[in-house]
Amino acid sequence: MYQYQESLKQLATKLRYHKSVAIISHVRPDADAIGSQIGVALWLKNFGTDVICHNDDPIPSNIAWLTDTLPVQDLSDTELDFCEAFLFVDGNSPQRFGKHEAFFRKTRKPCYVIDHHPEPEKDFFLSMVSIPEAGSTAELVYYLFQTTYPDWINNQVATALYTGIMTDTGSFRFDSVGAHTHQVVSDLIRRGSLRVSEIHERVYDTFSENQLKLTARALGQISFDPKTHLACMFVTEEDLTDTGCTQEDIEGLISFPLAMKEAKIAILFSERKNKVKLSFRSKSEFDVNKLARFFEGGGHQKAAGGWHPGPIEEAIEDVSAKVKELLSC
Ligand code: 5GP
Ligand code: MN
Repeated sequence: MYQYQESLKQLATKLRYHKSVAIISHVRPDADAIGSQIGVALWLKNFGTDVICHNDDPIPSNIAWLTDTLPVQDLSDTELDFCEAFLFVDGNSPQRFGKHEAFFRKTRKPCYVIDHHPEPEKDFFLSMVSIPEAGSTAELVYYLFQTTYPDWINNQVATALYTGIMTDTGSFRFDSVGAHTHQVVSDLIRRGSLRVSEIHERVYDTFSENQLKLTARALGQISFDPKTHLACMFVTEEDLTDTGCTQEDIEGLISFPLAMKEAKIAILFSERKNKVKLSFRSKSEFDVNKLARFFEGGGHQKAAGGWHPGPIEEAIEDVSAKVKELLSC
């Protein structure tokens, strides 16, 4: 924490000076985005700051309960412009924050960021807490409380931050996890009197019968290349229709090909209208963030996302070829 303390303190001083702040989380939000957003909003509210939370997209149903504490709304440029400053969470460029990108790039109001993605767009942000070594943005928000007012960590704050840390560390299994992660989590559990089994259940045990049917279908479509150790899974629009599922039900399927013993890289291809969404995961030194950058995306070394214009067969062919090329095999 100590190496982050200075930048956190500087950001804290700037943020608390504003009367109103809009907090914005990235498109297609995950629990780290929403948990960090709620956490930092609750921190700011303690100063009497007017806070509004914005996201362009619907919040996945298994984490929507995080917004029972504070609403996260779809807002217009005018509604956003009401604020003195913008705080972006869990994304390294205004491009990650959706339809208001042009508005954010134009505004003269200060734009701040708390994030853990590599290679932030430095010129855009007036002040940054950008720590790629951190396993989650929620962990950085915890340190914001820790360096300022740790006693402000109540049950609501701890729940939001724990959920973000839990999901972004793959339930405490990724490389980014160390003794420090468990120290943070231990403090959150103690201060927030958390019942962690409830949180895990709310987030993960949410499969519907239709989703299990979709999973069975997608499992039957897994392919594995022993040369590259790449496991691919795909979901077509027809798979969704036939099983009565929606795009939201695809979330989480990527963990299945990754669970294969021999797999070192896993990719999930999901068909959208006129394009294909790519989800990349790695269990080795192979950097999926680099791979994602060839396909209009990015992310982290071990988890990234991107897009292919389709059709899905071509997406699988092109991305698999790029993996081969990057591995020189
Ligand atoms: P997922 O596969 O869960 O959609 O995304 C995994 C991670 O990749 C996200 O947490 C995010 O960091 C990153 N990511 C996903 N989609 C995109 C994208 O379209 N652009 C960029 N830059 N990063 C993405
Ligand atoms: Mn994150």
